[in-house]
Amino acid sequence: MGKSSDIKLITDGKRIDGRKPNELRPVKIKAGVLERADGSAYVEVGGTHAIAAVYGPRTLHPRHLVNAQKAVLRTKYDMAPFSVDDRKRPGPDRRSIEISKVTREALEPVIFLEQYKKTGIDVFIEILQSDGGTRVAGITAASVALADAGIAMRDLVAACAAGKVDDTVVLDLCGKEDNFGQADMPIAYAPNEDKITLLQMDGDFTEEEFETALKYALDGTKRIYELQKKALKERYEKNE
Ligand code: ADP
Repeated sequence: MGKSSDIKLITDGKRIDGRKPNELRPVKIKAGVLERADGSAYVEVGGTHAIAAVYGPRTLHPRHLVNAQKAVLRTKYDMAPFSVDDRKRPGPDRRSIEISKVTREALEPVIFLEQYKKTGIDVFIEILQSDGGTRVAGITAASVALADAGIAMRDLVAACAAGKVDDTVVLDLCGKEDNFGQADMPIAYAPNEDKITLLQMDGDFTEEEFETALKYALDGTKRIYELQKKALKERYEKNE
């Protein structure tokens, strides 16, 4: 991000993958993809592929973490070593610890945690293939996986990013745009609640650009939200 480069990211109003500025990459969402998890989901946003698995509500270990008033939500974001061009060193690093934390904060507001006192709900997000926007794809997947686990929620959380490349505000940055662009702003949004649960920003926007980026990102999340609901419906129709 922010690296100046000779790479031209916008040509004749089109992006490097041919998209218009406010166009999402193709999005695929499937609920219930793992047998052993209580809930799971698979999400593809272009070349970014994420899987989320939910376990719980279940007995929480270690016991000193137990909260008598509500469930404790724990989230773990991980990028598979084979998810990027150069092998990623396995295991947690500063980036994945930060993403795990913001993911938890993005999901917590929509879960009725107080319905599951003294338990733990664990969410594991694995990035299988990475091409930009992995945290938002992970949040989108986790939200569907939580619903698939039957956990009571106020709303689903849909997430996507907007940013700036070649002085143009764009929706849903791919890896190259993220690397060589000027700004990246991931957003998570609960449409029914009209609540933004995550807003981060890497790079700079003018005030006007920020307004456009916010509009693009919110529009994007609304489109993703419809696909999340469709995935959950398909899951239940199959189980009938
Ligand atoms: P996000 O994936 O949510 O956009 P970042 O902005 O931190 O999060 O990362 C942007 C992109 O940089 C990732 O989607 C991925 O394609 C790439 N990237 C991140 N970490 C690594 C890594 N260790 N090795 C190679 N590429 C990486």
